[in-house]
Amino acid sequence: MKILANDGLANEGISLLEKAGFEVNLTHVAQEQLANFINKNGISGLLVRSATEVDKKTINACPGLKLIGRGGVGMDNIDVKHAESKGIHVINTPEASSESVAELVFGHLFNGVRFLHDSNRNMPLDGDSMFKQLKKSYAGGVELRGKTLGIVGFGKIGQATAKMALALGMKVLFTDHHTDKVTLNVSFYDGQSINFNLEAVDLDVVLKQSDFVSIHVPAQEKYIIGKKELAKMKHGTGIINTSRGGVLDEVALVDALDNGHLSFAGLDVYESEPKPEIKILMNPKISLSPHIGASTVEAQQRISVELAQQVIKLLK
Ligand code: NAD
Repeated sequence: MKILANDGLANEGISLLEKAGFEVNLTHVAQEQLANFINKNGISGLLVRSATEVDKKTINACPGLKLIGRGGVGMDNIDVKHAESKGIHVINTPEASSESVAELVFGHLFNGVRFLHDSNRNMPLDGDSMFKQLKKSYAGGVELRGKTLGIVGFGKIGQATAKMALALGMKVLFTDHHTDKVTLNVSFYDGQSINFNLEAVDLDVVLKQSDFVSIHVPAQEKYIIGKKELAKMKHGTGIINTSRGGVLDEVALVDALDNGHLSFAGLDVYESEPKPEIKILMNPKISLSPHIGASTVEAQQRISVELAQQVIKLLK
């Protein structure tokens, strides 16, 4: 059986599939050619990440497709309902990237509180006078320890982020549609571990009491953080979004940064990908990354192995 890994697949997963007798094709086929390529090459399983769109039209045009696999969490680039109605297995890897996304949250948080994103942009500009000027204006950095991180959406990534925050000595508040109480076991490098019992609070409490807010909900029909919600945040709050672009109103965000209500934002996802708005890209208070939450060597290895194991189980 043939598998097309259209957005790439780590070697560990390729080896597992090949050992099980699958042929793995790593060609990246453009969206318009995808159905044609799948049919012409007798592909049974299509593996994608977030870049390839598997819509109704593509699914209808590929009667031989037996499985669609998403390396990652969000299924918003796949018409899951339609694929399943055609008897196609649809799988993803819900656990594999949580640690990597959570670490990226802290990349943005550390950038934000010490202005690293801004100094990277400005230091090369104007020699020693810029150095002195920036040194002065960045004197107001703050520590994360002791501050409150508010988490919106307390599933796998929200909880992984909370564990890192607790290990750093931060307080954690969370809100979630389905989760009320959670015991998080935070383990340290020396083998010791501590249990933290946390209880959900209303979104308003998260907004009003947090020093930083990090969003970890799935794609939504409408913004969950818009003008009204941003206005409820404390003066000087930093906000991080590594979930999906459409959950945070970018126009309201830029306003809140420009008028000084928010101190910084860290964004990995954008309302418009792969071409975010110029107002976002050029804003000195925004730490940017190009949707790389799951793009670590470790996460990609775990993703490839989880996908391969599921493909073998379902298609053999
Ligand atoms: P998850 O399903 O484990 O958790 C999501 C949580 O959000 C659930 O507990 C759910 O109850 C809660 N929720 C849903 N809507 C809510 C709302 N309106 N208000 C409050 N809570 C709400 O998912 P996860 O694995 O933690 O992933 C979270 C997000 O991260 C997803 O959007 C996913 O697409 C995104 N993600 C991004 C990257 C990246 O590269 N940046 C990588 C992986 C996942």
